[in-house]
Amino acid sequence: MRNIFIAGNWKMNKDASQTQQFCTQLESHLQERDFGRVKAIVAPVHPFLAAAEGILRSAGVAAQDVSAHPQGAFTGEVSASQLASLGISHCIIGHSERRQYHGESDELVREKLLRLRENRIIPIVCIGETLLQREDGQTREVVLAQLEGCFEGVELASGEEVLIAYEPVWAIGTGKTATSAQAQEVHAEIRAWLKERYGEELAQKMHILYGGSAKPENIGELLEQPDIDGGLIGGASLQIESFCAMLDIALQNGGN
Ligand code: PEP
Repeated sequence: MRNIFIAGNWKMNKDASQTQQFCTQLESHLQERDFGRVKAIVAPVHPFLAAAEGILRSAGVAAQDVSAHPQGAFTGEVSASQLASLGISHCIIGHSERRQYHGESDELVREKLLRLRENRIIPIVCIGETLLQREDGQTREVVLAQLEGCFEGVELASGEEVLIAYEPVWAIGTGKTATSAQAQEVHAEIRAWLKERYGEELAQKMHILYGGSAKPENIGELLEQPDIDGGLIGGASLQIESFCAMLDIALQNGGN
């Protein structure tokens, strides 16, 4: 049976003390009961990863990006081995904001994926179509092309070494959530692609998270869908109350 991930992408929000306070509160919430299959992850900015990692015992800590280079003269970049040396468990790659503002391609995302795998960090690979692409009826084609590019030549052993986040670009930070039916339709396409690429057993073990204006009010319905295994959440992950509410809803949704 697959886990349910509630992963908070904090983007460029929270300073050192806010990060510390959130993580302390989250840790005490997670210790109140057994969350079973529900797994919490938070993704602070790079400078505060170590502090988050030092506080959180019951949640994963994710970086928001990583360099495609293993080491060397790349000012401002952070390598996968440096993240691994901090004990970081996950790393978001290919987020639409990086694709849009930093011109990141599927090939680059693939390089980052490989660096993370070499260092045993679980990549959270983001894919998703723009509004124009959806309106043009290209959602399936775009998403599958992104999968082909990001996973080209990538071998997986258990299926648990990678998480996929389907994030329709038009739903990120806009307040427009894909309906649970719209999200499920794409998640099912993604799982079908995984089955073709990696076989039924691995495809069934792989986690596909939904991202795009997910919040306590809609996370329950999204998690009821058979191919939605959690959420990658931006805005609604910033307040401890709403993040914990989503964890509690996930638990009620069969997380134990
Ligand atoms: C995101 O940035 O990954 C995201 C899903 O943001 P939001 O929840 O704010 O739409």
